[in-house]
This record gives sequence, C-alpha cells and structure tokens, in this order.
Amino acid sequence: MLTVAEALSAILNEVGRFPSHRIALGDALGLVLAEDAVSDLDSPPFDKALMDGYAVRSSDLQSGVGPLRVIEEVLAGAVPQRHVGMGETTRIMTGAPIPAGADAVVQVEHSQLIQTNADHQFVQLETAPLTVGRNVLKRGASTQAGERVLPAGRQLRAQELGCMAELGCDQVAVYRSPRVAVLATGNELVPVGTRPGPGQIRNSNETMLVSQLRQMGAEPVPLGVARDEPDELRRLIETGLKSDMLLLSGGVSAGKLDLVPGVLAAAGVRQIFHKVQIKPGQPLWFGVCERPAEGGAGSQTGRCYVFGLPGNPVSSMVCCELFVKTAVRKLMGIEPAAQIPVRARLKVAHQGSGNRPTYHPAHLEFTSEGACVQTVPWVGSSDLSATVAANAMALFPAGDRLFEVDEVLDVFAW
Ligand code: AMP
Ligand code: MG
Repeated sequence: MLTVAEALSAILNEVGRFPSHRIALGDALGLVLAEDAVSDLDSPPFDKALMDGYAVRSSDLQSGVGPLRVIEEVLAGAVPQRHVGMGETTRIMTGAPIPAGADAVVQVEHSQLIQTNADHQFVQLETAPLTVGRNVLKRGASTQAGERVLPAGRQLRAQELGCMAELGCDQVAVYRSPRVAVLATGNELVPVGTRPGPGQIRNSNETMLVSQLRQMGAEPVPLGVARDEPDELRRLIETGLKSDMLLLSGGVSAGKLDLVPGVLAAAGVRQIFHKVQIKPGQPLWFGVCERPAEGGAGSQTGRCYVFGLPGNPVSSMVCCELFVKTAVRKLMGIEPAAQIPVRARLKVAHQGSGNRPTYHPAHLEFTSEGACVQTVPWVGSSDLSATVAANAMALFPAGDRLFEVDEVLDVFAW
C-alpha cells in the first residue's frame, strides 16, 4: 500500500500539463499564464498629475513670486495646449498630462483664486518651497515599454488581469482547465430532492465533488448515479472517459458490490495504484486511460485520468482535496501542484489512534502568536457535518498516542 507521499508522486509522474491556448482576458481568472506578458507602452504613458491643483514651474515658487496667471485648464483625457512660462500656471485635474514648462503640481487646497474675470485669472499658491516633480508621476514610472510585467507560470488573480488589461492584452495564452466527469455509484443512492426510503441515502457526494472542482476552476460534468451493476457502470464510465478526468465515488473497497476497479480495467483504464495509507480514504484508486485524441474543444489530450474515491463522504472529500486537486493543478500548470501545508500549533491535546496517518477535520486560526489548530468533533468518515465546522484538515501521524498542546502539525486549509 502506498504512502500519501508515494501516491502524490505517482500522480505527479503520470499527469502532464495541458497545452496552452488563447482565450479572452475576461475568462482567464484563476488560470496560469503560458507566456510572459510584456508591456507595449510606458505606464503612465505621459507625465501625469497626481492631484487636482495647479501645474507650476517649481522655480517660480522657490523664488517666492506673487500670484500666478492661470493660462489654461486641463481635464483628465485632454491634452495641454499651452507652455507654462515664468509667472504662469495651468489648472490641472488628477490624471491629466503635465503641460510643457511645468514640473510640479500644487494641490488646489493650497490655492486661493484672487481675481477672476473672463480673460484673466490669478491664483495665489500657499505652499512651502516646492521640489521638482512634486505631485507628478513621471512617464514610465511604473512600467516601461518592453518590460516584462508578468512571467509565464503566474496564476492570474484580479490584479494580474487588471495589469494585463492596462497592457492591452485582450487575448491571453493560458493552460486550459480540465473537464472532469463525476459519477456516483451505489444502489442505495437517491437524488438530493428525494426523501430516502428504507436503506437509501441521498447522493451528497456529487454536489460536494462538483463544488470542490468548481473551486479549482475545473469544469465539472455531473453524470448522475450508476447502479452497482456492471453493464450500467460500464456504459457511464465510457461516457466519463471522454472527459479529461473521471471521478467515481463509491464501489472501490472490498464489498460484494464494489465493482469499480474491475469495470475500469475492462474499460481499458490502466491502474496506477489502489489503496493508500491514509485515514479516511484508504481504498482510493487511481488510473489512466489512453484514448485516440479528439479534435474537439472538450478534450484534446487523448488521456483521461481516473480517480475511484471511497464512497464515504469525508473520505471522498479528503481524497479530492489531497489527490484530485493536485492532479487538476498539474494539468492547469499551477506550481507547486501539491498543496503546501501550514505548520500550526495544537491548541487542545488530541488522542491519535490507528496505524495510518489521519487527516482530521479541524479549525485553523491565525493569531498574533502564529497559526493554531484545534480538531472539531468527528465520528468518522461518514460524518460530513463535522467538516462544516472545520476550515482545514490536521495531519496526525500514525500511532496510538496523545498529541500534546503546542505540538506542531501539518495542516491543510480547505
Ligand atoms: P462504498 O465506498 O460504495 O462502499 O460506500 C461507502 C459508504 O459511502 C456507504 O455508506 C455509502 O452509502 C456511502 N456513499 C457512497 N456513495 C455516496 C454518495 N454519492 N453520497 C453519499 N454517500 C455515499
Ligand atoms: Mg457502494
């Protein structure tokens, strides 16, 4: 049976990054840039005013001249027409280009208009000696034309998208995100909107897994429920194998109706591993299906990665967090693909048990003393309600022992 680390490296070995494609900038949130973004302009593209006020020659104010004559008014978006000479000033708004001759801006709050008629306006500027460049952002101060603004490999957040919008990148090259089919298995499952009869439960895993995938920016394709019956299972698996990835839930352990590994093998899916030393989630199954490449937009790789997740809801959730999301990140070009744990101090002692490492639902908190974690009450792998009180899973190494207050653990936020 593989350790968690071995299972993760088997996944990372098998899964390759997708090819890149060009999409509209507005659709790129969360995706990874496949090429450097280079500025085609200086930013700002001209010396610009940072304040509403008066564009002046700083030497005028240093020599303590009296009122300056207002020769023009420039709003943002307009271009100054007049050169500011000695004893002159231009009324200017934030964001407008600085007129030739001027080298600083005095805030409007420090001014007093002393004479107004249609032809002549004078202003008295009350300011301490003014330095050159005051309240002026020089052309190219934030970015120069030809400069690399974002490196390939960067995951795009709102601020990266904003920068690229400034650079005029209306189309961007990114690694695409996978289409992931989700297939729940089990004779006992009924749709969420149905009241379960005797021996039945609702199919909660589909909603949960679909949501976990959406959180990653993957594109889930829910396939409903397959009965524990080989032909139906085979038919729905064949449909799922057309996606980039297929998640099955249930049917991978040692029960009489755990048909998934056998049907996957019959459908030509090559097993990479079955079973991992982990609690919850031991029966996890992972494999790869090679298939003829398709031309369509849905799936271009000619491969489908298949996860058989144990049916118990917390097992499914934990395996999706640790293993499925790692594979999705690798496909999308997100580095590192495996989640990096937070090191956190245990706030309340916890009795560990069993011969497998346990990923226990927990509450992680950042305090002035650093990261702290506390387990939440949890009665096992079917107890999904415990995860609602949790924002993380705390990793307790295998062993029957008490984990003391202040012991430091690896914790995975979720
Ligand atoms: P299995 O892995 O198929 O043996 O299922 C283990 C447990 O998980 C059983 O109690 C199942 O009823 C439950 N289970 C399986 N699939 C789902 C599902 N889609 N939603 C909620 N519970 C499930
Ligand atoms: Mg089952």
